[in-house]
Amino acid sequence: MSQGMRLKRFLSRIIRWRPLSLAQLLILLFTAGLTFIVVWNTEMPIPYISYDTDDMDSKRDWVFNRGCVDTQEYLQRKDYHKRNATFVILTRNEELDDMLKTIYSIESRFNQWFEYPYVFLNNEPFTEHFQNTIKENTNAKVEFGVIDESMWEFPENIRNSPAFENFLQNQGDRGILYGNQESYHKMCRFYSGFFYRHPLVAKYKWYWRLEPDVEFYCDLTYDPFFEMEKTNKKYAFTIMIPELYYTIPNLFRYTKLFIRQNKLKTGSLWKLFVDNYEIIDSKKYGEYDDFINHKDDISVKLPQEVAIDYLLNEDKNDSDGLRNLINKAKSITPLQEEKFDNEGYNLCHFWSNFEIARVDLYTNEVYEEYFQFLEESNGFWQERWGDAPIHSLGLSLILNFDEVHYFRDIGYRHGEIKHCPKNFVSDDENRSSQLPYQSKHAKYNRGFFHRYDKGHSNGNGCRCSCPPSFDVEDTAYYCMYKWFEMSFANPDTNLGDNTLPGNEHKPLEDVKDTYEEIASQFYASKGKKPPKDVGSKFHKPKVN
Ligand code: GDP
Ligand code: MN
Repeated sequence: MSQGMRLKRFLSRIIRWRPLSLAQLLILLFTAGLTFIVVWNTEMPIPYISYDTDDMDSKRDWVFNRGCVDTQEYLQRKDYHKRNATFVILTRNEELDDMLKTIYSIESRFNQWFEYPYVFLNNEPFTEHFQNTIKENTNAKVEFGVIDESMWEFPENIRNSPAFENFLQNQGDRGILYGNQESYHKMCRFYSGFFYRHPLVAKYKWYWRLEPDVEFYCDLTYDPFFEMEKTNKKYAFTIMIPELYYTIPNLFRYTKLFIRQNKLKTGSLWKLFVDNYEIIDSKKYGEYDDFINHKDDISVKLPQEVAIDYLLNEDKNDSDGLRNLINKAKSITPLQEEKFDNEGYNLCHFWSNFEIARVDLYTNEVYEEYFQFLEESNGFWQERWGDAPIHSLGLSLILNFDEVHYFRDIGYRHGEIKHCPKNFVSDDENRSSQLPYQSKHAKYNRGFFHRYDKGHSNGNGCRCSCPPSFDVEDTAYYCMYKWFEMSFANPDTNLGDNTLPGNEHKPLEDVKDTYEEIASQFYASKGKKPPKDVGSKFHKPKVN
């Protein structure tokens, strides 16, 4: 058949097609709709290990209310009292559109029922337009404050010094995130040491920090301030992640110095942020100290060392050993400076763009002096200290682990990082798994197509609609691991002690034995006997 014939036949077939009948059209739409719903409900595969379908409630910290609460009934309870609490938001006039997204989200998910007030802060006056638009979008009381120069600007002698500009420029050149943005440094410094002193904030007992363009994925049908007060919690987070090392190279060093100078006994929260390096005491461990920075490195590094020994002493052509030697040469030398008194900062911190906490956590001698000490060390401009690691480390000087709460049931997004829980499913037939949503104002009505996620037997969320992506509990694996490790420690354990599982002192002999065991396995695989002096390197003291 020629090309022309084929084309003609194809065209005539199309021309012969009649429009679909109404019945056919309906069937087609129905099938398409069904396919859409099935695909929508198919759970995305989870790429790596996750806690998000596990019950993570412990005796130290648990989700206050699993699933939805009947808010109208909750508000009527005799023992319920609204708290002296506010939202706190630092923002700029230009961010109004993003701010409205946040307001819509928090109002529809929580505040339409509770009507907690808002405090907006800015280093410049808010425009009439900004103020009016915000007020039109909430029924709650809103106050707008300007930040005094003394709380916002770096002291005059500093900001006029040539060093000031050099340091910022240099951070920019080194590619440190926001390193050369003076306003970002000011923002971090303000949130670290001043926001709680602002008169509009200082009159409250509790605050909930918000930012423009954040999103809440679940309904919060109970009062988080009230529940925290009832359970003696003082600080709460929903995301914990590691900080970028190069933004805070000296923060931990100064923090340790502050502790030592003041002979402080830290709260047990300190343990969450600090890894114990006691095992790698350079006096005892000699060369060991040069290639391991943390005890968890041992199982990775020892086999490497054995293979290199073998290459150098036994078989000059061993490819395993050669590869390990090359890898070792290419790898970065561990940051020895990070180990002070055998402790190092693990870089974990509560992500402070979301915080629900007591204002008086900061208005006490220890935190205020800590801030003053940090201020005098110049790290707010010579480095780019974020307010998040400073809140975390600073509060760990005073708080015990049990005084912190993980709001696992609050679904939250800031930028690309998110946490979103599985919805609760009830085993109790008397309790509906997800109570129906009842908006207080028509503008928060949810359309027919609004969808909630399927529940899970260990779920805790109320009417969550999560984006189809994995949870931050995965991406910040080691921080949340540490959190749960402490949370699940035996309730009788005093977390302030050095007796946490995994944190105990590991004796020298153990390491030597491990080395010998690995070495003999390695040599056996080569059909050889290990040399006599295997492990001896760990007996040799370091020669200075
Ligand atoms: P990120 O979340 O670390 O990327 O930092 P953002 O740029 O979101 O800043 C954190 C918060 O401080 C946001 O609520 C911003 O609106 C606010 N912010 C940052 N810089 C300034 C500033 O120069 N002036 C004002 N008024 N707000 C600021
Ligand atoms: Mn932000």
